[in-house]
Amino acid sequence: MKQQLDVNAPKLPRDIARRFSHVRAWVFDLDNTLYSASSDLWPKIDQRITLFMAQLFGLDGMSSRALQKYYYQRYGTTLRGLMSEHDVTAEEFLAFVHDIDRSSLKPDHSLAQGIAALPGRKLILTNGSREHAIRTAEKLGIHDLFEDVFDIVAADLLPKPYAETYDRFFERHGVDPKEAAMFEDIAHNLEVPHARGMVTTLVTPRAEDQVERERWEIATGSEPHIDFVTDDLAAFLEAVVSDGPAPSPRVEKG
Ligand SMILES: [Mg+2]
Repeated sequence: MKQQLDVNAPKLPRDIARRFSHVRAWVFDLDNTLYSASSDLWPKIDQRITLFMAQLFGLDGMSSRALQKYYYQRYGTTLRGLMSEHDVTAEEFLAFVHDIDRSSLKPDHSLAQGIAALPGRKLILTNGSREHAIRTAEKLGIHDLFEDVFDIVAADLLPKPYAETYDRFFERHGVDPKEAAMFEDIAHNLEVPHARGMVTTLVTPRAEDQVERERWEIATGSEPHIDFVTDDLAAFLEAVVSDGPAPSPRVEKG
């Protein structure tokens, strides 16, 4: 049995910084990574997906939800399930499910500072749509910091964690994974990045936040493909560029 990690034993920021010192490209997932998993954004998208399917199949909410979960687990995204088994276009689905109210999202100044201070390129790699990523990043006040968004359409609708999607991303943007870092809230989406040589950080909900998660989405943080775990991305990024002792964010592993 694996030893439980001591979450109260933070690494010194300079130790973290050393692990990232070769990184030239910084790759971020969007949903539940660049904004808190406790925000109401993802549940809203989730509800729109349920509504889309309820309308498409004439189902009640509960049946629609069950089918949605089935597609998500079997195909990685509901969209992929719908396109594989039914005549649904990506455009109509993505436009519908991302048509949400983002007014609860506020500019995140410390995250903006943390991202801006990273040396090199910054990119978003998301299983959502480009438009959703741009609109959401705008709300957070971090939109201008990113060079580009690689979305589910760019991925030819093949979501993370499919290896082809990461490889397509590396090629499209000329990113050498051995000189890149990945930040992501779903643990198994870090397996391929780690295998390709990226430094991987799992972004988790804060302990005090109640977040609904699928069992398989939850990681202990002790998986070998996870280099770091943080529940405070902004503070963690501050440590990444730190060249000396500074207030430590809550960080595990290393
Ligand atoms: Mg995510």
